[in-house]
Amino acid sequence: MKKLSCFEFQRGRLFVGCLPQGRDLILSVEEFCENALIHMALFSVIGAVSSATIGVYDQKQQVYVTVKEEAPFEVVSCMGNVSLKDGKPFIHAHILLSDEQGKTIGGHLFSETIIYAGEINLQELTGKPRERTYDNDTGLMLWK
Ligand code: ZN
Repeated sequence: MKKLSCFEFQRGRLFVGCLPQGRDLILSVEEFCENALIHMALFSVIGAVSSATIGVYDQKQQVYVTVKEEAPFEVVSCMGNVSLKDGKPFIHAHILLSDEQGKTIGGHLFSETIIYAGEINLQELTGKPRERTYDNDTGLMLWK
């Protein structure tokens, strides 16, 4: 039986900020991490998006099935982490969105998801950064 594998980190810098209107959510967080030399972090976002791309992993076919929604949504919750993939900061995030009727959709967050307004808090973690590599069992890029 497989065991939970955990890695220990220390808290680094804590960032709180505004996401740029009209830009892609994932790309803007990745760019910030690259510029601030952040290799591991946990973050959450609240705000609004003008379009969103979300998906679910088809575990049989081992591919993501995505849907793009061209409509305004509130970001009820978005949480994710930063680690390394190919030596660069890589975002893994999930998002829950609500429409004007309060109905929610959610899933794994993809580009393009365009920010209308957003606030992020991001906790840097220091210690040996985890690198994502291909996992044969799931077909996903996981921490080794
Ligand atoms: Zn995911």
